[in-house]
Amino acid sequence: MGEISSAIEVMREVTVADAASGRQVFDATKALMELRNLVDHLLAVHAEALDRLGVATQSGAKTRNLLMEMGAAPSVAARWLRIGAALASLQRLPGYAGDGVFSGEHVDAMVQGLAHIARRAADGLCEQERLEHERALIAQTLSGATTKELEQTARAIGNQIATETGGLPAGEDRRLNEFTVVPTPDGRVKVTGDLDVVIGEKLIAAINSLAQPRPEPDGSPDARTIGARRADALEQILDAAATADTPFMTAPKTHLTLTIPVDTPDLASLTWLGPISQATAKMLACDAGITEIIIDGNRAPLDMGYEQRLFTPHQRTAITARDRCCIKCGGPAAWSHIHHMIHWHDGGPTDLDNGCLLCPSCHAHVHAHGWDIVIGIDRHPWLIPPTTTDPHRTPLPAHNRRTMHLHETAA
Ligand SMILES: [Zn+2]
Ligand SMILES: [Zn+2]
Repeated sequence: MGEISSAIEVMREVTVADAASGRQVFDATKALMELRNLVDHLLAVHAEALDRLGVATQSGAKTRNLLMEMGAAPSVAARWLRIGAALASLQRLPGYAGDGVFSGEHVDAMVQGLAHIARRAADGLCEQERLEHERALIAQTLSGATTKELEQTARAIGNQIATETGGLPAGEDRRLNEFTVVPTPDGRVKVTGDLDVVIGEKLIAAINSLAQPRPEPDGSPDARTIGARRADALEQILDAAATADTPFMTAPKTHLTLTIPVDTPDLASLTWLGPISQATAKMLACDAGITEIIIDGNRAPLDMGYEQRLFTPHQRTAITARDRCCIKCGGPAAWSHIHHMIHWHDGGPTDLDNGCLLCPSCHAHVHAHGWDIVIGIDRHPWLIPPTTTDPHRTPLPAHNRRTMHLHETAA
């Protein structure tokens, strides 16, 4: 602590001398940047230590809030914590950061890029592979890459790994999703996002259906910009969601159309965003949020596939009464889809013993990662994990049965 105080004293004396040459100011600037990098790294290390020591929790807060109270901007506090938490699992980057070679922004881009790459590998990465990717990003940063370029490189590596290891295509990998809603200093809200094809398609379908230009009362063209019309459409969607009084919010508000060629069902495609994999097509077909159109070679519809595919509201009520919540994670029933345990394309019937509640992210996970769900002799659904999760594939009870079991044991 004493050393930091004396360093602060020294730094307070630093000025740009009247007689300084351009060269001297340049060198001083370079040294100050190195110092800033070093300080940023030390702050990440200290943020991690504050978190590990539970300093904030002693007053019931989170470390990020504590850092903000101490004067850090929210995004900077988040960055320190992100880097601090990642350092222990990295092999080369901490050394460079500790020498002040990279800015905090660059270190953060590498940390996030490496996390992105690791998420894309179907079965995770070994130590050697991690090191290889870490080295690649460090080399690119040393050669002067921007944080944006680092992000692009990480995405490209991630896509390549996903292809090689049989992982999901980027468009269908929900683990990459991001959505932020951040207040701006002038009292507005900035929305940014990076969404998978399914949520993206729902968003585009909903926004486009409501953002069409409307003539002004005097018949002149709509004066709103396309951006303003989309924002108005978003408000309509939010208002509609807020006033929906159906007891089961699973009823879709955004209607999707999935077109499936009868001879090549693997070429299923969405209206706005195009082709999707069969796993995602099957997931979408589970619930009512979609109209499936089977087309022949001339793109003529053969079968809407509607009646036999969808659970009736009555069946939905019965399944909800049995499962109570997402059977995998316990997420609210109101958000859940009804999953066909045996897909209806594969001859699975639309009846109670073939349906169960899964929240959207568990639903996508079950379809993408090879989980099976069966009805047990207790007539409740059981989850069978893929071998990558449990080599023995031991069946797990539904979430509401798990908690019941724990209670019974306790009593
Ligand atoms: Zn869930
Ligand atoms: Zn499903």
